[in-house]
Amino acid sequence: RAVARTIERVCAVIPDYPEPGVVFRDLTPLFANGAAFRETIDALLQQFEGSYDVIAGVEARGFLLASAAAYAAGVGVMPVRKQGKLPRDTYAESYQLEYGTATLEIHRDDVPAGSRVLILDDVLATGGTLAATTRLMERAELSVAGIGVVMELDGLGGRETLRGQRVSALYTA
Ligand code: 5GP
Repeated sequence: RAVARTIERVCAVIPDYPEPGVVFRDLTPLFANGAAFRETIDALLQQFEGSYDVIAGVEARGFLLASAAAYAAGVGVMPVRKQGKLPRDTYAESYQLEYGTATLEIHRDDVPAGSRVLILDDVLATGGTLAATTRLMERAELSVAGIGVVMELDGLGGRETLRGQRVSALYTA
């Protein structure tokens, strides 16, 4: 697909970042390129046309995608935040990192129960982040319409971790 070629051409690949042996994919050049960014947002939305009422983005790069996509689709945007940032009652879900754990939160009542949520993030790796995000949606009685990512890193088990969900990646590395 054309959008996959755009992502491959525009994104940066950084060996040994943030530590030796890790190949980091940097999407900031894609965000900075107006034509590539628009092509990416349009392609993400196209996969899930008509299936959602609101779009959630995972802090922080998911915010960039979700807010642009929500504006384009004419729906609201829901921030999935790191622990301790939201001022009212939240649901919280933790997940394993390589060293330690991380926690994500959403407000309990920003979006009405029963709404269908499209979740967006930049990169799917092990799937821990997005699995915790789907658990948050379930706690809030929201239904997950799908999960869209710009890039999927192959061989890290992300698809397995998210089995049962509709997952769409524009590019697989
Ligand atoms: P997971 O929970 O699937 O293992 O990791 C996904 C999260 O880590 C995403 O929120 C993503 O932003 C970040 N991440 C993991 N690897 C990379 C990478 O190579 N590049 C970027 N930009 N983010 C990554």
